[in-house]
Amino acid sequence: MVFSIGLAAMVLAAGMGSEMSPQASPVDVHGRLQVKGNRIVGKDGKPASLAGMSLFWSQWMPQYYTAGTVAWLKSDFKSTGVRAAIAVGSGGYLTQPDVETKKAHAVVDAAIKQGMYVLVDWHSHDAEKTPEAAEKFFGELAAKYGNKPNVIYEIYNEPLKVSWSQVIKPYAERVIAAIRKHDKDNLIIVGTPTWSQDVDAVIPDPIKDPNVAYTLHFYAGTHKQYLRDKAQKALDAGLALMVTEWGTVNADGDGKVDRESTQAWMDFIAKNQLSHFNWSVADKVEGAAILKPGSSGNGGWKDTELTESGLYVRDLIRGWKH
Ligand code: MG
Repeated sequence: MVFSIGLAAMVLAAGMGSEMSPQASPVDVHGRLQVKGNRIVGKDGKPASLAGMSLFWSQWMPQYYTAGTVAWLKSDFKSTGVRAAIAVGSGGYLTQPDVETKKAHAVVDAAIKQGMYVLVDWHSHDAEKTPEAAEKFFGELAAKYGNKPNVIYEIYNEPLKVSWSQVIKPYAERVIAAIRKHDKDNLIIVGTPTWSQDVDAVIPDPIKDPNVAYTLHFYAGTHKQYLRDKAQKALDAGLALMVTEWGTVNADGDGKVDRESTQAWMDFIAKNQLSHFNWSVADKVEGAAILKPGSSGNGGWKDTELTESGLYVRDLIRGWKH
């Protein structure tokens, strides 16, 4: 009887655990993500290679910052994560902090319910000009959600052509300190110079925190082998990378879907067990948008509502081995 009481307690404990993240959901399987060498691994120490969508700039496509969209990305796209691109300038957080914070929290809550990972992205190109805003936003986020393994902090989307050591790293260290006050251990992703392409700039001067990885962005129509070579150099030097944003089209978000280049990138990503988030969930008339104009903000999209990029990327995400 002692044995069966023990067993019952174990079953009960397992049941309680699964209440936090739905059973067999991505977060239930991998737990809190951590950097180990040049890989991002789950609780079992094995690489976790996430695949999902990025939402569009929060101030311009607020209709997709919903539980319905997040649930649909999980059920139909088989996304293991989602990215909230929280706008900073251009009418974003700096002018309406409460409105943008609510959008971020809505997506985080929805991801937790689904057992998905959620990248909370500070969608800025000049974040070093207003570090106190990022400290406040991420400090509050960490205080509220730092105990949830779902949350990944992406503290600077795409720096411009600025110095890693003189500009980006000092900014990142301030924001990381604000996060670490409340959350000692969740994964933090830091942007890199030249629209998060110059990942090799970090090699001589990485951030001293055990759970930091660096951002690599590419647009398949524009960026080819030279950028993969740069990324390989960073990986070989021991840096962990995450593709928090990528497109099937040109770097301006428009143009044709470049399948050949996308496939070369997906091969590289698979080989290196990276995670990838496609730009973007939007119904704008633009090559990178996955939806046709007027598509619902609550998911349930028919195939006829998906664009060429949307159908192609959905297949890539559905077929991803993670
Ligand atoms: Mg934590």
